[in-house]
Amino acid sequence: MVPQPFVNAFDRLRRRCQPQRDNAPDAALYWEALSDLPIDALDEAALQLARAQKYFPTVSEWATTARALDNIRNLPTQQRCKECAGRGVFMVQYRSGEPFDIAVCACKAGRLYRALGNGVLPLLKQQLKLSDEHRIHWSEWFDGDDA
Ligand SMILES: [Zn+2]
Repeated sequence: MVPQPFVNAFDRLRRRCQPQRDNAPDAALYWEALSDLPIDALDEAALQLARAQKYFPTVSEWATTARALDNIRNLPTQQRCKECAGRGVFMVQYRSGEPFDIAVCACKAGRLYRALGNGVLPLLKQQLKLSDEHRIHWSEWFDGDDA
């Protein structure tokens, strides 16, 4: 049984993205592969993916985005910040459909990471369990990218 909140997120994503070719994706198949992830992370990832991608995401794209959002959410919060919600890092999405990157915020929360220097970047990447297709850097490093 596929839970209704997932069906809702799935349907919203399907309406926002063009289905991949003629194959309408199957919510039950996706749920089978994604059910270990928190539903609110899947829901937020669906919105992020719909903004970034033209086509319906693969299971792997949805899982990777939801897992990173969930990991970001589990970072300790410092201060309110519009960009990073006080977590010091935020996701950078690309309209081109390129894999997302992670930026270290310029706010007070991000400065705690910045104070540790470049060496903190691989550690953060490890903590967020990012694969090599995702980059992590200071937010200004991404300026000018199609974010
Ligand atoms: Zn911030």
